[in-house]
Amino acid sequence: KLYNQVQDLKGSIRVYCRVRPFLPGQPNLLSTVDSIEEGHIKISTASKCGKEGNRSFRFNKVFGPTATQEEVFADTQPLIRSVLDGYNVCIFAYGQTGSGKTFTMTGPKVTTEQSQGVNYRALSDLFLLAEQRKDTFSYDVSVQMIEIYNEQVRDLLVTDEIRNSSQKGLNVPDANIVAVASPFDVIEVMNVGQKNRAVGATALNDRSSRSHSCLTIHVQGRDMTSGATVRGCMHLVDLAGSERVNKSEATGDRLKEAQHINKSLSALGDVISSLAQKNAHVPYRNSKLTQLLQDSLGGQAKTLMFVHISPEYDAIGETISTLKFAERVA
Ligand code: ADP
Ligand code: MG
Repeated sequence: KLYNQVQDLKGSIRVYCRVRPFLPGQPNLLSTVDSIEEGHIKISTASKCGKEGNRSFRFNKVFGPTATQEEVFADTQPLIRSVLDGYNVCIFAYGQTGSGKTFTMTGPKVTTEQSQGVNYRALSDLFLLAEQRKDTFSYDVSVQMIEIYNEQVRDLLVTDEIRNSSQKGLNVPDANIVAVASPFDVIEVMNVGQKNRAVGATALNDRSSRSHSCLTIHVQGRDMTSGATVRGCMHLVDLAGSERVNKSEATGDRLKEAQHINKSLSALGDVISSLAQKNAHVPYRNSKLTQLLQDSLGGQAKTLMFVHISPEYDAIGETISTLKFAERVA
């Protein structure tokens, strides 16, 4: 069964939709999600002014508000094995601010074993699989963490504690690359990244929702009998919030940020949809994000996009536009 899943993922683009639950302390509101069935999600667009309607969308998978982190990861797992087999993988979290992107990728603010997100689970799985193959293969694992803000790349792993090794990253030039040997190392590195990310932000100016952050895992495996090597890498990307900014309200820096985000998210959408349609020309060069990920988008590479939606009626406009974006790339 696993084999079939891996085949299914080969060279393809998958889109999973995840619906956030209402949050503790929120009044018991009515959800815009009418029903979820076998990869279908039905949204009720009933508005305050009484107009009612339904819209249906279809994805490879839809996770409802009660889906656990473990369940979500179970359908991501085949990709981890393929990284060890030498494939490049991109996993994206897309959605408006507050819809659960960071929850899916990292987990809640205070994480427990159960609430760990995809990033940590992917890495611990990688070590587990490498361990299982240790009689035939030896693997080296290293990570990079960067942030893209206003089309500029910032290395999140700069600190006195981390020494830069001479090894170069695939397509993220100049960013520090840090060797990791256990899930514990990974947590430490991710904490450094989180801290550096916060440095750029003030209390009133939470930059994390307006920048893309990317954790890249490089894997190099060596066949111990033949000496042959395989290389694979995985990019885990927590995208900037996809909400449209009201042009009449945003000015100055805020407007500039919004324009950069808008441009890079639509560039990403263009790249993925032209890959899905097998177009001859793929417009990688239209944003920093797609330039950096070029080697891991298309060809033999595998892409998984998690699209997140919030259940509140207030969010209906963004929900529909998120689902339309996702439908275009699916
Ligand atoms: P984003 O990164 O898209 O801005 P967050 O991941 O920060 O959104 O989620 C917003 C809030 O909702 C956080 O408090 C987060 O812990 C909570 N949340 C998001 N998704 C879930 C979920 N599936 N289950 C429980 N809480 C969630
Ligand atoms: Mg976030």
